[in-house]
Amino acid sequence: MIRINDIIDKVTEYYPDADLDLIDRAYIFSAKVHDGQVRLSGEPYLYHPLAVAGILADMKLDVVSVAAGLLHDVVEDTHATLEELDEMFGKETTHIVSGVTKLSVLPFDSSSQARQAESIRKMILAMADDIRVILIKLADRLHNMRTLRFHSEAKRKKIAKETLDIYAPIAGRLGIYWIKKDLEDTSFMYLQPEEYSKIESLVNKDREEGEKYIETVKNLIENKLDEHNLKGEISGRYKYLFSIYKKMISQNLSFEEVYDIIAFRITLDSISQCYEVLGLIHSLWKPVAKKFKDYIGVPKPNMYQSLHTTVIGPVGERIEIQIRTWEMDKVASSGIAAHWSYKEGLHLDEKTNKAFSWIQNLVENQEDYKNPDEFLENVRIDLFPDDVYIFTPRGEIKTVPRGATPVDFAYLIHTEVGNQCTGAKVNGRIVPLQYELKTGDTVEIITSKKHHPSKDWLNFVKTVKARSRIRHLAERCVKRLSVNTASISIPN
Ligand code: MN
Repeated sequence: MIRINDIIDKVTEYYPDADLDLIDRAYIFSAKVHDGQVRLSGEPYLYHPLAVAGILADMKLDVVSVAAGLLHDVVEDTHATLEELDEMFGKETTHIVSGVTKLSVLPFDSSSQARQAESIRKMILAMADDIRVILIKLADRLHNMRTLRFHSEAKRKKIAKETLDIYAPIAGRLGIYWIKKDLEDTSFMYLQPEEYSKIESLVNKDREEGEKYIETVKNLIENKLDEHNLKGEISGRYKYLFSIYKKMISQNLSFEEVYDIIAFRITLDSISQCYEVLGLIHSLWKPVAKKFKDYIGVPKPNMYQSLHTTVIGPVGERIEIQIRTWEMDKVASSGIAAHWSYKEGLHLDEKTNKAFSWIQNLVENQEDYKNPDEFLENVRIDLFPDDVYIFTPRGEIKTVPRGATPVDFAYLIHTEVGNQCTGAKVNGRIVPLQYELKTGDTVEIITSKKHHPSKDWLNFVKTVKARSRIRHLAERCVKRLSVNTASISIPN
């Protein structure tokens, strides 16, 4: 359990001139109004706002955010009012608490698509109003996920799903990867406990061997850097479980086939050193074609920068390596919070403002959307960069995972359309069935009533639905075919 003094220590470390008085007063008030309340865990309620404020301090956020974190549940869960807060803590803190309170009464528990869309819309609006509202919501969710075991099974699953659908993508889009990973792994644990523990034990099984392997690769890189008088930090780490699971599903691999459960990172002082080291790595080990990505030259929309490459390592295995500067490393873990942190007030620097202008754009354009669904489609493009957005011939927008083919799309429309799919036109031209769909493609499926799915399709389809239907049908067809041939009669 974190205490207020720990939080104050953290804040003082990154913000020596902080107005600690605000945090102190927020703490005392929160303790007073939450007094007597207990959480499902049996702990005093106060532990929760303290934990949330602690997470905000870990994100190195400003004093107002930390104070608002301590107060984030007082309006919703106690007799305290916004007027009272305004008087005691001022406009800025109150405004943020008010934003968090508005979001917590959203009907997230609804299963209806439209309501969920509406919830996300409100999150985006709150984000545009003051991004700190969302940062507090993320910290709140993080702590709630960490204490989810005290809820009933049904409630756990519901909350975990919502976290995976809404909160983790938002954390990712804001570039706060450590929160995204934490949320995804915890959700995964509750949603698919069997798969989770299977992957966990598989990862742990090879732990000792893995550590040895990490040492070997580190030494080889280190020697190469030494030869060229370059100083950098080299680290090897296990990928998080949900990312391994996602890879297994999306590429239909068994655990043994996921080669890169360990990833390496080289952190250096300057950008030119990054490119130099990339050259050294590529001279040491053969790079895998098309796996190199230059996010330094072309940063991701959330400002993430790094060089990514995959090479064939010392024992013929693939190694994924990220190369970046210390500054980029900071942004890579804290995202928007890194640019923000203890800087006074609401004013992000121009570069950051630009990078996050998508939030503003979404909000400004929202009047143009006819309904929440349409708005959601646009938000999703931003939140789920691994999805590909395509159009039906009628202009409807559909989502398929990256790497999906016309056959995947056909099954997405309807099982029958998938089964009878004989060809596809993309943007008016015939394409092979294994064509990889791209965002913006208009896709038309050509069907024939007598057609049956081919087992070969299993070699290229990406979605689980297509895969299982093809397998199922292909088996049935083989049976039917053998029956038919037995009683076949050729008409004259
Ligand atoms: Mn809360």
